[in-house]
Amino acid sequence: MIRYNTSKQCHGTDCLIIPVFEGQKFKGSHFYGVTLDRSIEQLVEGDITGKKMEVCMMHATHSTVRKVLFVGFGKEKDLTLKRYKETIGTAVVYAQDRKNQKISIALPLEVMKKWDMKTLGKETAVAVEVASYAYDEHKTDEDARVLPITHVEYILDVKSGEKKKFELGLEVGRVVGQGINLARHLGNHPPSIMTPTYLAREARLHTKKLKALNVKILSKQDLEKMGMGLLLGVARGSAEEPKFIIIEYRGSQKPTEKPTVLVGKGVTYDSGGLSLKPRDFLIDMKYDMLGAAAVLSTMYVVATLKLKRNVVALIPAVENMPSGSAFRPDDILKALNGKTVEIKNTDAEGRLILADALCYAMKYNPKEVIDLATLTGGCMIAVGLERSGLFSSEKNMVESLLRSSEACGEQLWQLPLGEEFDEVNKSEIADIRNSAGTNADRFGQASIGASFLEFFTKDKKGNPLYPWAHIDLAGAIYSGKGKAWMRAGANGFGVQILVEYLDRKYIWE
Ligand SMILES: [Zn+2]
Repeated sequence: MIRYNTSKQCHGTDCLIIPVFEGQKFKGSHFYGVTLDRSIEQLVEGDITGKKMEVCMMHATHSTVRKVLFVGFGKEKDLTLKRYKETIGTAVVYAQDRKNQKISIALPLEVMKKWDMKTLGKETAVAVEVASYAYDEHKTDEDARVLPITHVEYILDVKSGEKKKFELGLEVGRVVGQGINLARHLGNHPPSIMTPTYLAREARLHTKKLKALNVKILSKQDLEKMGMGLLLGVARGSAEEPKFIIIEYRGSQKPTEKPTVLVGKGVTYDSGGLSLKPRDFLIDMKYDMLGAAAVLSTMYVVATLKLKRNVVALIPAVENMPSGSAFRPDDILKALNGKTVEIKNTDAEGRLILADALCYAMKYNPKEVIDLATLTGGCMIAVGLERSGLFSSEKNMVESLLRSSEACGEQLWQLPLGEEFDEVNKSEIADIRNSAGTNADRFGQASIGASFLEFFTKDKKGNPLYPWAHIDLAGAIYSGKGKAWMRAGANGFGVQILVEYLDRKYIWE
């Protein structure tokens, strides 16, 4: 756990981080209580440009401060919250990679004018937590591992009331950052470790200390009794048993308040099943449970922050493998609500397990349901690697989710639902099919996947059973090489959007 304090001046530290704007005017050589060996005017002309993400580290001639790291925000008018977090993160990763464990971060006045102090404290803490995480526990050479950041000193020259707000924000941001890192950590495990059983165990472990959370794990036998035929069908080819993880949180003062139900796709490894993926596409398929990881971690944050809402998380967890007992293209499976599904492609398994979970959600008479899933490659084609697709017919939910995403710098982009996509999913021999099974479903793939899910959120007459939104995480959830502000692997996308959303600031009522 990173300890922290706030201060008006920099005291003893391994590295003082000073963010600067492009074209910013400076005077002298004295900053935040530290004297540099050259005047800042000289440095600005040479080494420090303030251009976005540009870093410049120098040694300080100071008894208790060893290094100063300047980092560029870019132009002041272009500083968004996303850029702010990425810049702070870039400096933290840079300092940490050079074995600085105690760091100080100076907060320029211009930044304090842009956001209120609580928001600033929160987002700064999220950026620091996220930047400092590394998944290196399998490296046996200690020197190759990242040293943990032990202490952060935030330097800000403000009145005590403002400082309090900032500190309040830091506390919240720390929890949110830890939640994001929990999602990343779950996702980064190799698939031989991260099985449905392991995920269920982790769900218990990380919620154990939080009394407001109630965890139930449904076993294969439970699912058979209930008739969750889609989840069971997908599980058939794997030696690993499926699990259905339920996490309930009651935070509302009104015990009868309808809960928001979150559903997270938990395919712990997706080989494609008998519709086996080509060699290159088998890589990174351990990340096919990041919807589940995000939902689980959101519950941790919601309960730790004691949000005054009722929230339920449903996680269908399964491994999709080919074998003699695997489900096949041409099979017909029966969902929890009795609807039949013709299987055309066993690699379109995410929508199957989510459909069962969407049926199960009815048990809670939900206020709304939001599902998160690494559902389609088509969504990546549509929106690239840094956005996720958002699908919903509920204008208010769309608006609130988009505002929540803007509020934390994670990017959502709305994509369409519509009749033309429903048509593709029509089956000649069952109620619906999970894929067109030919090249015909190449176009609008993300929307076709969403339309399949939508089918299970409606009654016989086509009326919605509850307000529903689907987030196709696409490629926004991991990065092979990492970024300057975040190391390689899963990035925890979705956790902060959901927390902002559930925090009710941007909510529709
Ligand atoms: Zn698949």
